[in-house]
Amino acid sequence: MSKERKRIDVIVLSQHERVLGQVLGKLNLAQNHFSFLPATTLRTKRVAEHPDFKHKILNTRSCITLTAQDSDPDCFLTVVIVDQPIESDHYSNLFGDFSKNRHVAIITTQGASQIGIPLTDYVRYFIIRYVLGQTILINTHEETRDCMFDKKNHKPDIRLSLRSARLCDDCNLKLRKLSSPNSETAVGACRQLLGHMVLEHN
Ligand SMILES: [Zn+2]
Repeated sequence: MSKERKRIDVIVLSQHERVLGQVLGKLNLAQNHFSFLPATTLRTKRVAEHPDFKHKILNTRSCITLTAQDSDPDCFLTVVIVDQPIESDHYSNLFGDFSKNRHVAIITTQGASQIGIPLTDYVRYFIIRYVLGQTILINTHEETRDCMFDKKNHKPDIRLSLRSARLCDDCNLKLRKLSSPNSETAVGACRQLLGHMVLEHN
């Protein structure tokens, strides 16, 4: 029954390193399926020193591609946390971006302080969102009413998810459809992560 936890590497290129360490601790305590670990110093250094990560505004596509090249097959997901503004080829002023194919997500702390929630909660919300995305194939969608995967164009709506961890009917259906033993464990862990997030906000 016991098996190795799925490894999630977190590359912290943010000045809030200590705060983010607390987030990883909470995520590990909340469930037994995923192991959230700071990436090795070597990997962090290699990513940090790449010229594409030194721009004033980061392009998420190139940063995700570069990060994926430096991953290994045992890594379920890599999450990179930066402080600069980030933009994709189509959107500017993003909170985060994610590639399921490349097993990489990028999150920025830029603008987090304006939402009125602690940085730990803000980052945890996004990490959980991307872990679910990697596990279940849920994509960000148009606004419903308080789903974790709403676009959240109105950024303070993140607070709704922190209190409810709600999924819309479509997202819930995707979660329920996974039935293999392994994915059930992953789904269980995802539900535990969501539940844990909510417990601390009620
Ligand atoms: Zn949804």
